[in-house]
Amino acid sequence: MLLGNAIIVIVSAGILGVGLIFAIRIIRILRNYGQARPWIVLSILISFFSLGYIFTALRFLNINLMPGATLDGLVTAIFFFGAVFVLILAVLNRNLFANIFGTTINDSKAIDLFADYVGMPVMNLAALIRPAYSVTCDICQQRVKYSIPDIVRTHPRLDRGVEIEKTTGEVIYKFYVRHYCNREYREMPVRHDHKFEYLSTGSSRLV
Ligand SMILES: [Zn+2]
Repeated sequence: MLLGNAIIVIVSAGILGVGLIFAIRIIRILRNYGQARPWIVLSILISFFSLGYIFTALRFLNINLMPGATLDGLVTAIFFFGAVFVLILAVLNRNLFANIFGTTINDSKAIDLFADYVGMPVMNLAALIRPAYSVTCDICQQRVKYSIPDIVRTHPRLDRGVEIEKTTGEVIYKFYVRHYCNREYREMPVRHDHKFEYLSTGSSRLV
């Protein structure tokens, strides 16, 4: 029975090891963008879990590496850090999905955030912007409707959805309008003048 337990725990440690390889690959991708820290924490947790599993498996085989530590204490620690692990993973996934599919904030909150980002009083901004704009997709030729609150919702990090260009004293806003196009998300860069009137559009890019 205990040998069976030891085998299952060792197999579990192996599965964790594969998980660790994937976590390290994610770190390699994210470190180029300065976003790797939460995954480094997760990798450290996975490493501790692996050590805990190996320690437990050896206990089942009557090999005691740390006589001071009890199995109960170890299980309690694994429960606690397991919960921390799930919480970090849930927050990271929530942020990731918000970046892909957008957030659900209402129009007035979105306009508040936008006004803050462009440094303009909300009243002035509300008087300038239109309820909706539209642009033709360069790939599927569909007319895509968008509004400024839409831009805010689809870009939780507004600096990725709105670029402010200040050339020769005139302010130009470049919005990245997200559009589901032929089973993939694309973003079209659309330029607006200082009164938020449509100016021009450029080539879309894959999200
Ligand atoms: Zn399209």
